[in-house]
Amino acid sequence: MSDCIFCKIIAGEIPSRKIYEDERCYAFHDIDPKAPVHFLVIPKEHITGANRITEENAPLVGHIFAVIAKVAAELGAGDDYRVVTNCGPKAGQTVGHLHFHVLAGRDMTWPPG
Ligand code: 5GP
Repeated sequence: MSDCIFCKIIAGEIPSRKIYEDERCYAFHDIDPKAPVHFLVIPKEHITGANRITEENAPLVGHIFAVIAKVAAELGAGDDYRVVTNCGPKAGQTVGHLHFHVLAGRDMTWPPG
């Protein structure tokens, strides 16, 4: 999508600190980290948010979670990390391209604000 900042990051039109990429997804460090480890994993397909996950694209989401586990381990997070997706503005979504935050490296509190 031409005006989507995450599509521009995937295309290399906006610079990012890439961690991982394959044919289906892209992982990069968040520009405004909320934990010592804070990266985002996004599908290359422009899906606007978690409310657009369907039976058809669910395998892509499963793949993303497998990538999350691999990248989190590579970054030293081990098995202690939090995955967050904000869906809709009231939940804090600011970028309209499905993304999974992965936070690690500090103790987390519950519930999130
Ligand atoms: P949301 O608020 O939609 O859940 O998450 C969007 C995330 O994208 C935020 O954590 C924000 O810091 C990050 N972000 C927004 N613009 C950019 C950018 O241009 N580069 C990177 N690396 N992260 C960004």
